[in-house]
Amino acid sequence: MRVDFHIHTSFSRDSSIMPEELIEKALDENIQCLAICDHKTINGALLTMRLAFSKPILIIPGIEITTKAGDVLALGIKRKISDGLSFEKTISEIKKQNAFVIIPHPFGKPTPFKSSLNHPEIHAIEGINGATLKILNKKVFKISHKLNKPLIANSDAHSIEEFGNVFFEIPDGAQNQNDVFKAIVENKITIPEEISSLKDSIKINNVFKRLYCKHFT
Ligand SMILES: [Zn+2]
Repeated sequence: MRVDFHIHTSFSRDSSIMPEELIEKALDENIQCLAICDHKTINGALLTMRLAFSKPILIIPGIEITTKAGDVLALGIKRKISDGLSFEKTISEIKKQNAFVIIPHPFGKPTPFKSSLNHPEIHAIEGINGATLKILNKKVFKISHKLNKPLIANSDAHSIEEFGNVFFEIPDGAQNQNDVFKAIVENKITIPEEISSLKDSIKINNVFKRLYCKHFT
């Protein structure tokens, strides 16, 4: 089962992905589990869930939260969590909702994560982020022996072209978000070879696209 846990819809100020086109491309690319992690809102996630209701895709509502220590993804949430809190306070808010905690791009975008990556409430860490340079992704793998956490690969897509390039796999058969979370905690994760080996060009392409968009649109 292909999973991408970090996607932004047009409900994030910096993304152009419409929920309808996201679902269509997920079906085409056979990505069966998607977490929508917009900034500051879960409305894009809720809309995508409604639109995908009768489709063979599992949509998990999430959010990307800017904390004082860096960015945090909370998955399986029911209410938005505000930016700007300390990491500990953010974690306690996430725990109230019994949600799943991921540290995205721990070495970049925009600054390195400032708290411990081995914090007991962190469930997984992004080893590959599709919108981050290879050198920063590589750093995560370099210290992976010191991390007692599963590593996953997410697109962090902000345009539809970026979606589908980066994902990870868990065994087939997950019926709901708890099944998916359980597979990750048990580290039943495969990052396909082509994603690790292509990640340089994927990153560079995506970063150029982003710069190009900023300058010319
Ligand atoms: Zn993001």
